[in-house]
Amino acid sequence: MLYLDHAASTPLRPEARTAFADVLALGPANPTGAHARAQAVRAALELARERLAGCLGVLPGRVVFTSGGTESDNWAVRAGASRGVVLYSAIEHPAVAVPARASGGIEIPVCRSGVVDLDALEAVLRAHASDAALVSVMAANNETGAVQPLPEIAALVRDICPDCLVHTDGVQAFTKEPIDVGGSGIGALSLSGHKIGGPVGIGAMVLGQEVELEPLLLGGGQERGRRAGTPDAAGASALAAAAVASTHEDWARVGFLRDRLEAGLRAEIDDLVVYGCEAPRLVTHTFIGIPQVPADMAVIACDRAGLAISAGSSCSSGAQGASGTLAAMGADGSGALRLSLGWSTSLDEVDRALDILVDVVVKLRG
Ligand code: PLP
Repeated sequence: MLYLDHAASTPLRPEARTAFADVLALGPANPTGAHARAQAVRAALELARERLAGCLGVLPGRVVFTSGGTESDNWAVRAGASRGVVLYSAIEHPAVAVPARASGGIEIPVCRSGVVDLDALEAVLRAHASDAALVSVMAANNETGAVQPLPEIAALVRDICPDCLVHTDGVQAFTKEPIDVGGSGIGALSLSGHKIGGPVGIGAMVLGQEVELEPLLLGGGQERGRRAGTPDAAGASALAAAAVASTHEDWARVGFLRDRLEAGLRAEIDDLVVYGCEAPRLVTHTFIGIPQVPADMAVIACDRAGLAISAGSSCSSGAQGASGTLAAMGADGSGALRLSLGWSTSLDEVDRALDILVDVVVKLRG
């Protein structure tokens, strides 16, 4: 099976697998316990915290391990909503958008390129200067890969609503794009293990200096009272190992492969649309529309031919495979295909995927 669905979940990196196994090998123990084995597991957890913090240039005490991106996003939004109005972009993942909408939050539109409309954000911030509590804009979109202007967003918030917290969902961008937590005005960053080569079911919230969020999960005093529940030391170690293993060289290579794939598609499909290509994009993503080729049918045909990809359609949200991103960008057509590459993608895989996709398009059009 050729796999170009890394934005959904990317394979475990060998370094992460080893780190996970090393902690399991210590034997069963709760890292909050007092005995020697518990202390060893605790040491592994704290080492993971230090390593992850080191990747982001923050103090280890600012890293809180969670169960994944969804929990971290929910936590930020709910904590913000408990203090005031939540502003969130129209292209947020449901892990942000659903709780934000439920809290009566205000959606900020994006431009046709898929990048947050800064003028619209400024207007809403001015109108809500006294009650805005949280601005949540993802670091990069999960479908187009469009990188959002976080420094500009943080500067606007600082000027207009200095008490408002800036949260970013860094689930797709982390390790691929620099994210400056703290210094640049980003107060809270959500991360997920399985998008960077760590396991599913582990994530983190990284807090800027002086930022505290009202806990989402109540119970024991784990994670310095910020997140109740027994910490997953093996998962945290694997998440940190995956983050440390990621290199600029990986992404330069992947960027070359993504560009090669896109160039090949453009050469074969004259009317190909690449959504979000006017914006700065993650090197891993390409989100394409092919006129007269329904995205859901193309996904099924590719799957039968041995290529795993995913679809987002421009039909109303809630439908299978629907893409809020396309709708927010004002795109029309019969939907889009997301091809997403990752650290393990090879040249051969990309070239074979291109052949399959072109063949599928010819057949579906014919
Ligand atoms: N945020 C974004 C941008 C995502 O792409 C995803 C997963 O697809 C999530 C949040 C949810 O992360 P998790 O699967 O770790 O809950």
